[in-house]
Amino acid sequence: MGTTRVLHVPVDSLVEIGQKGSAIKLGADWLATRHSDLVLCINSEKCFGDGCDDPEEHACLNCTRSGHAQVIFTHYGIFRDIPARTIEYAPERRSRRYSGMLDNLKKEHGDAFSEWSACTVLIYRRID
Ligand SMILES: [Zn+2]
Ligand SMILES: [Zn+2]
Repeated sequence: MGTTRVLHVPVDSLVEIGQKGSAIKLGADWLATRHSDLVLCINSEKCFGDGCDDPEEHACLNCTRSGHAQVIFTHYGIFRDIPARTIEYAPERRSRRYSGMLDNLKKEHGDAFSEWSACTVLIYRRID
């Protein structure tokens, strides 16, 4: 708790200030982020990585720091058991349905992801 993390968001998925968004991460790495601050980092293409995940560093050439958010809810469990109300905040309309979210995660993670994968769902509210 209390640490600031960088959350990468696709360019068309940035929520308005004051609005809620959600993200799904594989594994438990993001579970401890409840109440943490997020630096929202928009990537137009693939992020170059390196320092881009470090809130103290500058974003890479494909990314733009685009405000802050606070994590207001986390849920950890297998993908199949994700509470329906959490994906309602997915910025991308397609991902607000189970099948759409499943599809997106398969595209993003390939064989590393299945419906039985453990993952962490975050809901955040954009602050600025
Ligand atoms: Zn980047
Ligand atoms: Zn970035």
